[in-house]
Amino acid sequence: MMARIKRSDFAGLPETDHRIIGEKLDLFSFQEPSPGMVYWHDKGLKLRNILIDFIRNELSKRNYIEISAPALANTVLWRVSGHWDHYKDNMFITKLGNEEFGLKPMNCPSTFLFYKSKKWSYKDFPLRISDFDVLYRNELSGVASGLFRVKSLTQDDAHIFVTEDQIEGEMHEQIELMKKFYGIFDLKYTVKISTMPEEHMGTKEQWDKAVDILVKVAKKNGIKAEIKEKEGAFYGPKIDVDIKDSMGREWQCATIQLDFQMPGRFQLTYTGEDGKEHTPIVIHRVIYGSLERFIGILIEHYQGKFPVWLAPVQVAVLSLSEQNENYARSVEKELLESGIRVVGDYESNTIGYKIRNVQLQKIPYSLVIGKKEEESKTISVRSNYDGGEKQGVRLGDFVKQVQDEIRKVY
Ligand SMILES: [Zn+2]
Repeated sequence: MMARIKRSDFAGLPETDHRIIGEKLDLFSFQEPSPGMVYWHDKGLKLRNILIDFIRNELSKRNYIEISAPALANTVLWRVSGHWDHYKDNMFITKLGNEEFGLKPMNCPSTFLFYKSKKWSYKDFPLRISDFDVLYRNELSGVASGLFRVKSLTQDDAHIFVTEDQIEGEMHEQIELMKKFYGIFDLKYTVKISTMPEEHMGTKEQWDKAVDILVKVAKKNGIKAEIKEKEGAFYGPKIDVDIKDSMGREWQCATIQLDFQMPGRFQLTYTGEDGKEHTPIVIHRVIYGSLERFIGILIEHYQGKFPVWLAPVQVAVLSLSEQNENYARSVEKELLESGIRVVGDYESNTIGYKIRNVQLQKIPYSLVIGKKEEESKTISVRSNYDGGEKQGVRLGDFVKQVQDEIRKVY
Protein backbone atom coordinates (compact mmCIF):
# COMPACT_ATOMS: atom_id res chain seq x y z
CA MET A 1 0.00 0.00 0.00
CA MET A 2 2.71 2.43 0.95
CA ALA A 3 4.62 1.70 -2.21
CA ARG A 4 7.32 3.90 -3.57
CA ILE A 5 6.10 5.78 -6.63
CA LYS A 6 6.96 3.48 -9.49
CA ARG A 7 8.60 4.29 -12.76
CA SER A 8 5.22 3.77 -14.43
CA ASP A 9 4.04 6.94 -12.69
CA PHE A 10 6.51 8.81 -14.87
CA ALA A 11 5.09 7.27 -18.05
CA GLY A 12 5.44 9.58 -21.01
CA LEU A 13 8.19 11.72 -19.48
CA PRO A 14 11.22 12.28 -21.68
CA GLU A 15 14.49 10.60 -20.66
CA THR A 16 15.93 14.09 -20.06
CA ASP A 17 13.51 14.76 -17.16
CA HIS A 18 15.11 14.95 -13.70
CA ARG A 19 12.59 12.44 -12.30
CA ILE A 20 13.72 9.77 -14.77
CA ILE A 21 17.42 10.52 -14.28
CA GLY A 22 16.98 10.81 -10.51
CA GLU A 23 15.46 7.35 -10.36
CA LYS A 24 18.09 5.77 -12.60
CA LEU A 25 20.89 7.29 -10.54
CA ASP A 26 19.08 6.41 -7.29
CA LEU A 27 19.20 9.98 -5.96
CA PHE A 28 15.75 10.37 -4.38
CA SER A 29 12.17 9.10 -4.31
CA PHE A 30 8.69 10.25 -3.42
CA GLN A 31 6.80 8.02 -0.99
CA GLU A 32 3.08 7.86 -0.34
CA PRO A 33 3.11 8.80 3.37
CA SER A 34 4.65 12.22 2.60
CA PRO A 35 3.02 13.61 -0.54
CA GLY A 36 5.04 16.25 -2.35
CA MET A 37 8.08 15.78 -0.12
CA VAL A 38 11.43 14.33 -1.05
CA TYR A 39 13.01 11.21 0.40
CA TRP A 40 16.70 11.77 -0.25
CA HIS A 41 18.65 8.60 -0.93
CA ASP A 42 22.32 8.51 0.02
CA LYS A 43 23.64 9.79 -3.30
CA GLY A 44 21.06 12.53 -3.63
CA LEU A 45 21.74 13.65 -0.08
CA LYS A 46 25.46 13.71 -0.87
CA LEU A 47 24.75 16.03 -3.79
CA ARG A 48 22.62 18.25 -1.57
CA ASN A 49 25.28 18.37 1.14
CA ILE A 50 28.02 19.21 -1.37
CA LEU A 51 25.97 22.16 -2.61
CA ILE A 52 25.34 23.36 0.95
CA ASP A 53 29.02 22.95 1.92
CA PHE A 54 30.02 24.79 -1.23
CA ILE A 55 27.95 27.89 -0.48
CA ARG A 56 28.75 27.71 3.26
CA ASN A 57 32.41 27.84 2.39
CA GLU A 58 31.82 30.89 0.20
CA LEU A 59 29.68 32.63 2.83
CA SER A 60 32.23 32.14 5.60
CA LYS A 61 34.73 34.08 3.45
CA ARG A 62 32.14 36.84 3.23
CA ASN A 63 31.66 37.18 6.95
CA TYR A 64 28.25 35.54 7.29
CA ILE A 65 27.01 34.01 10.53
CA GLU A 66 24.71 30.98 10.46
CA ILE A 67 21.75 30.22 12.71
CA SER A 68 19.02 27.58 12.99
CA ALA A 69 15.53 27.69 14.52
CA PRO A 70 12.70 25.25 15.33
CA ALA A 71 10.33 24.23 12.53
CA LEU A 72 7.29 24.82 14.74
CA ALA A 73 6.25 28.17 16.17
CA ASN A 74 3.16 29.57 17.87
CA THR A 75 0.91 31.37 15.42
CA VAL A 76 1.53 34.57 17.41
CA LEU A 77 4.80 34.78 15.48
CA TRP A 78 3.09 34.34 12.11
CA ARG A 79 0.56 37.02 13.01
CA VAL A 80 3.33 39.54 13.69
CA SER A 81 5.16 38.62 10.47
CA GLY A 82 2.03 39.02 8.36
CA HIS A 83 2.12 35.39 7.19
CA TRP A 84 -1.16 34.73 8.99
CA ASP A 85 -2.88 37.33 6.83
CA HIS A 86 -1.09 36.67 3.56
CA TYR A 87 -0.04 33.02 3.64
CA LYS A 88 -2.16 31.12 6.18
CA ASP A 89 -3.81 28.89 3.55
CA ASN A 90 -0.42 27.55 2.54
CA MET A 91 0.75 26.79 6.07
CA PHE A 92 0.63 23.49 7.94
CA ILE A 93 -1.18 24.25 11.19
CA THR A 94 -1.44 22.04 14.26
CA LYS A 95 -2.74 22.33 17.82
CA LEU A 96 -0.76 21.74 20.99
CA GLY A 97 -3.15 21.90 23.95
CA ASN A 98 -5.26 24.98 23.36
CA GLU A 99 -2.70 26.78 21.28
CA GLU A 100 -2.22 26.86 17.55
CA PHE A 101 1.17 26.34 15.99
CA GLY A 102 2.43 26.51 12.43
CA LEU A 103 5.32 24.87 10.58
CA LYS A 104 7.56 27.58 9.24
CA PRO A 105 7.13 28.47 5.58
CA MET A 106 9.90 31.10 5.67
CA ASN A 107 12.95 31.89 7.75
CA CYS A 108 12.49 35.65 8.17
CA PRO A 109 10.50 35.64 11.44
CA SER A 110 12.92 33.33 13.28
CA THR A 111 15.85 35.38 12.02
CA PHE A 112 14.19 38.50 13.41
CA LEU A 113 13.75 36.80 16.81
CA PHE A 114 17.47 36.07 16.80
CA TYR A 115 18.17 39.69 15.85
CA LYS A 116 16.05 40.90 18.75
CA SER A 117 17.98 38.74 21.21
CA LYS A 118 20.89 41.21 21.19
CA LYS A 119 21.72 44.87 20.70
CA TRP A 120 23.25 45.89 17.39
CA SER A 121 24.98 49.01 16.18
CA TYR A 122 25.70 50.39 12.71
CA LYS A 123 29.22 49.04 13.21
CA ASP A 124 27.84 45.49 12.98
CA PHE A 125 26.36 46.24 9.55
CA PRO A 126 26.06 44.86 6.96
CA LEU A 127 25.00 42.02 9.26
CA ARG A 128 24.73 38.86 7.17
CA ILE A 129 22.78 35.97 8.73
CA SER A 130 22.30 32.72 6.83
CA ASP A 131 20.36 29.52 7.56
CA PHE A 132 19.52 26.23 5.88
CA ASP A 133 16.42 25.23 7.84
CA VAL A 134 13.71 23.03 6.35
CA LEU A 135 10.55 24.92 5.35
CA TYR A 136 7.00 23.64 4.83
CA ARG A 137 4.62 25.10 2.29
CA ASN A 138 1.30 23.50 1.51
CA GLU A 139 1.35 24.49 -2.14
CA LEU A 140 0.26 22.63 -5.22
CA SER A 141 2.92 20.02 -5.80
CA GLY A 142 3.58 16.34 -6.16
CA VAL A 143 4.54 13.94 -8.85
CA ALA A 144 3.57 16.43 -11.53
CA SER A 145 6.59 18.64 -11.02
CA GLY A 146 9.00 16.39 -9.13
CA LEU A 147 11.70 18.37 -7.34
CA PHE A 148 10.65 21.64 -8.94
CA ARG A 149 7.73 22.17 -6.59
CA VAL A 150 7.68 20.45 -3.22
CA LYS A 151 5.90 20.95 0.10
CA SER A 152 9.05 20.57 2.16
CA LEU A 153 12.16 22.44 1.04
CA THR A 154 15.48 23.84 2.13
CA GLN A 155 16.76 27.20 0.99
CA ASP A 156 20.23 28.69 1.14
CA ASP A 157 18.54 31.59 2.87
CA ALA A 158 20.11 34.77 4.19
CA HIS A 159 18.90 38.00 5.71
CA ILE A 160 21.21 40.98 5.53
CA PHE A 161 20.66 43.95 7.78
CA VAL A 162 21.83 47.22 6.29
CA THR A 163 21.56 50.99 6.66
CA GLU A 164 20.06 52.91 3.76
CA ASP A 165 23.54 53.92 2.57
CA GLN A 166 24.58 50.29 2.36
CA ILE A 167 21.74 49.06 0.11
CA GLU A 168 23.58 49.62 -3.15
CA GLY A 169 26.86 48.05 -2.03
CA GLU A 170 25.11 45.01 -0.60
CA MET A 171 22.84 44.51 -3.61
CA HIS A 172 25.98 44.58 -5.74
CA GLU A 173 27.57 41.98 -3.47
CA GLN A 174 24.55 39.69 -3.84
CA ILE A 175 24.30 40.02 -7.63
CA GLU A 176 27.99 39.30 -7.90
CA LEU A 177 27.60 36.17 -5.74
CA MET A 178 24.69 34.99 -7.88
CA LYS A 179 26.68 35.58 -11.08
CA LYS A 180 29.66 33.74 -9.69
CA PHE A 181 27.58 30.71 -8.69
CA TYR A 182 25.51 30.47 -11.85
CA GLY A 183 28.74 30.91 -13.82
CA ILE A 184 30.32 27.93 -12.06
CA PHE A 185 27.37 25.77 -13.11
CA ASP A 186 27.28 27.42 -16.53
CA LEU A 187 23.54 28.07 -16.13
CA LYS A 188 21.67 30.41 -18.44
CA TYR A 189 19.21 32.66 -16.67
CA THR A 190 16.91 35.61 -17.08
CA VAL A 191 16.63 38.44 -14.58
CA LYS A 192 13.53 40.38 -13.63
CA ILE A 193 13.09 43.45 -11.45
CA SER A 194 9.66 43.77 -9.87
CA THR A 195 8.24 47.15 -8.89
CA MET A 196 5.58 48.43 -6.44
CA PRO A 197 2.33 46.41 -6.43
CA GLU A 198 -1.09 47.95 -5.77
CA GLU A 199 -1.12 46.50 -2.29
CA HIS A 200 2.09 47.69 -0.67
CA MET A 201 3.65 49.13 2.42
CA GLY A 202 5.89 52.19 2.44
CA THR A 203 5.95 55.38 0.41
CA LYS A 204 6.24 55.76 -3.36
CA GLU A 205 9.49 57.70 -2.93
CA GLN A 206 10.99 54.84 -0.98
CA TRP A 207 9.96 52.37 -3.66
CA ASP A 208 11.17 54.51 -6.57
CA LYS A 209 14.53 55.02 -4.94
CA ALA A 210 14.92 51.30 -4.24
CA VAL A 211 13.91 50.27 -7.77
CA ASP A 212 16.42 52.79 -9.16
CA ILE A 213 19.14 51.13 -7.09
CA LEU A 214 18.19 47.65 -8.35
CA VAL A 215 18.24 48.83 -11.97
CA LYS A 216 21.59 50.55 -11.46
CA VAL A 217 23.20 47.53 -9.79
CA ALA A 218 21.95 45.16 -12.50
CA LYS A 219 23.36 47.44 -15.19
CA LYS A 220 26.70 47.75 -13.42
CA ASN A 221 26.91 43.94 -13.45
CA GLY A 222 26.19 43.75 -17.16
CA ILE A 223 22.79 42.15 -16.53
CA LYS A 224 19.86 42.91 -18.79
CA ALA A 225 16.86 42.93 -16.50
CA GLU A 226 13.26 42.90 -17.56
CA ILE A 227 11.07 45.25 -15.50
CA LYS A 228 7.96 43.59 -14.10
CA GLU A 229 5.63 46.44 -13.23
CA LYS A 230 3.69 46.05 -9.97
CA GLU A 231 4.99 42.55 -9.26
CA GLY A 232 7.11 43.27 -6.20
CA ALA A 233 6.40 41.73 -2.80
CA PHE A 234 4.13 43.86 -0.64
CA TYR A 235 7.11 44.78 1.55
CA GLY A 236 9.57 45.83 -1.16
CA PRO A 237 10.96 45.48 -4.72
CA LYS A 238 12.97 42.45 -5.80
CA ILE A 239 15.28 40.91 -8.35
CA ASP A 240 14.28 37.40 -9.47
CA VAL A 241 16.45 35.03 -11.42
CA ASP A 242 14.74 32.34 -13.52
CA ILE A 243 16.29 29.23 -15.03
CA LYS A 244 14.78 27.09 -17.79
CA ASP A 245 14.31 23.35 -17.29
CA SER A 246 14.78 20.67 -19.97
CA MET A 247 11.26 21.31 -21.22
CA GLY A 248 11.75 25.05 -21.53
CA ARG A 249 9.66 25.93 -18.47
CA GLU A 250 11.05 28.80 -16.36
CA TRP A 251 11.55 28.35 -12.62
CA GLN A 252 12.51 31.02 -10.15
CA CYS A 253 15.73 30.17 -8.37
CA ALA A 254 17.67 33.12 -6.93
CA THR A 255 15.75 36.06 -5.52
CA ILE A 256 17.06 39.18 -3.83
CA GLN A 257 14.38 41.25 -2.08
CA LEU A 258 14.54 44.60 -0.37
CA ASP A 259 12.35 44.93 2.69
CA PHE A 260 11.47 48.23 4.36
CA GLN A 261 8.52 46.86 6.30
CA MET A 262 9.04 43.70 8.29
CA PRO A 263 11.86 45.16 10.44
CA GLY A 264 9.35 47.77 11.62
CA ARG A 265 6.66 45.19 12.35
CA PHE A 266 9.14 43.31 14.50
CA GLN A 267 10.38 46.56 16.09
CA LEU A 268 13.97 45.83 15.12
CA THR A 269 16.45 48.57 15.84
CA TYR A 270 20.15 49.38 15.72
CA THR A 271 22.15 52.24 17.20
CA GLY A 272 23.19 54.64 14.46
CA GLU A 273 26.25 56.85 14.18
CA ASP A 274 24.19 59.60 15.85
CA GLY A 275 23.70 57.43 18.93
CA LYS A 276 19.97 57.14 18.26
CA GLU A 277 17.91 54.03 17.51
CA HIS A 278 16.99 53.40 13.87
CA THR A 279 15.08 50.72 11.95
CA PRO A 280 17.33 48.58 9.75
CA ILE A 281 16.52 47.65 6.15
CA VAL A 282 16.59 43.94 5.42
CA ILE A 283 17.64 42.16 2.24
CA HIS A 284 16.12 38.69 1.96
CA ARG A 285 18.03 36.62 -0.51
CA VAL A 286 18.60 33.09 -1.79
CA ILE A 287 21.17 32.12 -4.42
CA TYR A 288 20.26 28.49 -5.20
CA GLY A 289 16.72 29.15 -4.01
CA SER A 290 15.12 25.88 -3.02
CA LEU A 291 17.88 23.26 -2.91
CA GLU A 292 15.34 20.72 -4.15
CA ARG A 293 14.47 22.78 -7.21
CA PHE A 294 18.09 23.70 -7.89
CA ILE A 295 19.11 20.03 -7.79
CA GLY A 296 16.29 19.22 -10.23
CA ILE A 297 17.65 21.92 -12.56
CA LEU A 298 21.23 20.63 -12.20
CA ILE A 299 20.20 17.01 -12.86
CA GLU A 300 18.64 18.10 -16.15
CA HIS A 301 21.41 20.59 -16.96
CA TYR A 302 24.15 17.95 -16.67
CA GLN A 303 21.85 15.05 -17.61
CA GLY A 304 23.23 13.28 -14.55
CA LYS A 305 26.88 13.68 -15.66
CA PHE A 306 27.90 15.92 -12.79
CA PRO A 307 31.33 17.55 -12.85
CA VAL A 308 33.85 15.72 -10.68
CA TRP A 309 33.61 18.15 -7.76
CA LEU A 310 29.84 17.68 -7.61
CA ALA A 311 29.48 13.97 -8.47
CA PRO A 312 28.07 12.00 -5.49
CA VAL A 313 30.45 9.17 -6.45
CA GLN A 314 33.61 10.27 -8.23
CA VAL A 315 35.47 7.02 -8.79
CA ALA A 316 34.61 3.32 -9.17
CA VAL A 317 37.29 0.73 -8.47
CA LEU A 318 36.77 -2.43 -10.55
CA SER A 319 38.66 -5.67 -10.03
CA LEU A 320 39.40 -7.65 -13.15
CA SER A 321 39.23 -10.98 -11.34
CA GLU A 322 38.97 -12.45 -7.87
CA GLN A 323 42.76 -12.62 -7.61
CA ASN A 324 42.98 -8.81 -7.74
CA GLU A 325 40.37 -8.11 -5.10
CA ASN A 326 42.76 -7.42 -2.25
CA TYR A 327 44.88 -4.97 -4.19
CA ALA A 328 41.74 -3.32 -5.59
CA ARG A 329 40.37 -2.94 -2.06
CA SER A 330 43.62 -1.33 -0.93
CA VAL A 331 43.27 1.18 -3.81
CA GLU A 332 39.71 1.94 -2.72
CA LYS A 333 40.87 2.47 0.87
CA GLU A 334 43.62 4.86 -0.18
CA LEU A 335 41.19 6.89 -2.28
CA LEU A 336 38.72 7.07 0.61
CA GLU A 337 41.48 8.28 2.91
CA SER A 338 42.38 10.96 0.35
CA GLY A 339 38.82 12.31 0.62
CA ILE A 340 37.67 10.98 -2.75
CA ARG A 341 34.14 9.59 -3.05
CA VAL A 342 34.60 6.04 -4.26
CA VAL A 343 32.76 2.73 -4.65
CA GLY A 344 34.26 -0.69 -5.35
CA ASP A 345 32.88 -3.49 -7.52
CA TYR A 346 34.49 -6.83 -6.70
CA GLU A 347 31.75 -9.07 -8.07
CA SER A 348 32.67 -11.84 -10.48
CA ASN A 349 31.02 -10.21 -13.51
CA THR A 350 33.03 -9.40 -16.64
CA ILE A 351 34.95 -6.14 -16.70
CA GLY A 352 32.86 -5.02 -19.70
CA TYR A 353 29.68 -5.45 -17.64
CA LYS A 354 31.18 -3.56 -14.70
CA ILE A 355 32.33 -0.66 -16.87
CA ARG A 356 28.92 -0.41 -18.48
CA ASN A 357 27.29 -0.33 -15.07
CA VAL A 358 29.58 2.52 -13.97
CA GLN A 359 28.70 4.42 -17.14
CA LEU A 360 24.99 4.00 -16.42
CA GLN A 361 25.62 5.32 -12.91
CA LYS A 362 27.43 8.28 -14.52
CA ILE A 363 30.44 7.99 -12.25
CA PRO A 364 33.22 10.13 -13.78
CA TYR A 365 36.10 7.63 -13.45
CA SER A 366 36.59 3.85 -13.45
CA LEU A 367 39.84 2.38 -12.20
CA VAL A 368 40.45 -1.08 -13.58
CA ILE A 369 42.70 -3.30 -11.46
CA GLY A 370 44.08 -6.47 -13.04
CA LYS A 371 47.21 -8.59 -12.76
CA LYS A 372 49.35 -6.09 -14.70
CA GLU A 373 48.30 -3.22 -12.42
CA GLU A 374 48.79 -5.27 -9.30
CA GLU A 375 52.32 -6.31 -10.30
CA SER A 376 53.40 -2.78 -11.25
CA LYS A 377 51.46 -1.19 -8.36
CA THR A 378 49.63 1.09 -10.80
CA ILE A 379 46.05 1.59 -11.99
CA SER A 380 44.28 1.87 -15.33
CA VAL A 381 42.13 5.00 -15.46
CA ARG A 382 39.06 5.23 -17.65
CA SER A 383 37.24 8.53 -18.00
CA ASN A 384 33.59 7.61 -18.38
CA TYR A 385 32.59 11.01 -19.71
CA ASP A 386 34.96 11.15 -22.69
CA GLY A 387 35.97 7.48 -22.95
CA GLY A 388 39.69 8.29 -22.58
CA GLU A 389 41.92 5.55 -21.12
CA LYS A 390 45.33 5.62 -19.49
CA GLN A 391 47.32 2.65 -18.27
CA GLY A 392 50.17 2.40 -15.81
CA VAL A 393 49.05 5.44 -13.80
CA ARG A 394 50.44 5.90 -10.30
CA LEU A 395 47.64 6.15 -7.76
CA GLY A 396 49.17 9.27 -6.19
CA ASP A 397 49.17 11.02 -9.58
CA PHE A 398 45.52 10.14 -10.14
CA VAL A 399 44.54 11.42 -6.69
CA LYS A 400 46.33 14.68 -7.40
CA GLN A 401 44.58 15.00 -10.77
CA VAL A 402 41.14 14.58 -9.16
CA GLN A 403 41.99 16.95 -6.34
CA ASP A 404 43.19 19.56 -8.86
CA GLU A 405 39.93 19.24 -10.76
CA ILE A 406 37.99 19.85 -7.54
CA ARG A 407 40.23 22.73 -6.52
CA LYS A 408 39.46 24.56 -9.76
CA VAL A 409 35.99 25.18 -8.33
CA TYR A 410 36.42 25.04 -4.56
ZN1 LIG B 1 13.13 36.29 4.42
